[in-house]
Amino acid sequence: MKLATLSFLRSVSKDNQQFAVIGLGRFGRSVCATLRKLGYQVLATDIDAKQVSAALTKEIVSHALQLDSTEPAALKEAGIFGFDTVIVAIGNYVQESIITTLNMKEAGVPHVVAKASSEVHYKLLNRVGADHVVFPEYEVGRALALTLTQPFILDRFDLDPDNSIVELVVPDEFHGKTITEIQLRNRYGLNLLAVSKDSEFQINPNPTYRLERGSAMVVIGCNKDISRMPI
Ligand code: ATP
Repeated sequence: MKLATLSFLRSVSKDNQQFAVIGLGRFGRSVCATLRKLGYQVLATDIDAKQVSAALTKEIVSHALQLDSTEPAALKEAGIFGFDTVIVAIGNYVQESIITTLNMKEAGVPHVVAKASSEVHYKLLNRVGADHVVFPEYEVGRALALTLTQPFILDRFDLDPDNSIVELVVPDEFHGKTITEIQLRNRYGLNLLAVSKDSEFQINPNPTYRLERGSAMVVIGCNKDISRMPI
């Protein structure tokens, strides 16, 4: 997760109980079904009447309407502009997705999340004012590649494209050594933030602390240096 994402998520009011989802493709349906399961009110719209009635039949939405979201008048009449958070879940129709996002921002919707289906689409959505853009194909693909190539990394927080905070399994090479002995800063350019044992974290551990196989450590540094860590 990036810092910009975190600040966006923080800005979404915790009291918000209602969401509007535009587009009932696979992505939109998944968003609706999950929000509903979590107990939130969901108003969904789609230009396709069949998608609207299927969503109502499957009860993945509280309300659903058939409308063309490129039409500001239709959105206004449906009350979409009154929502705090709107998810534009139109990935494959770039023009419709851009116009819909623009409609939301021009009407003053505070939090607009939009789904991109390509890099250009991603850039355009940011340009027209989307507050948060997701690009599932890219994000899931990247996460899979990282998991396959760096299985020792348990969790990561991307500070920016080059620097991260990662939780990783203590490498075998570090087993039984103290923090001073592993020379993380000198050898790898990384700083140790915490060590964990039995799910309990010890922040800023003592330099004499001995690392153990099977436990975890949290480091901060640049991605290139993190990838040089022994596995
Ligand atoms: P997929 O379902 O293939 O994974 P997706 O979730 O990104 O992809 P899309 O194919 O982009 O979904 O379609 C999302 C939905 O948006 C479709 O059901 C489509 O009918 C709807 N849609 C397209 N244009 C409009 C529009 N102008 N107004 C409202 N809904 C629209």
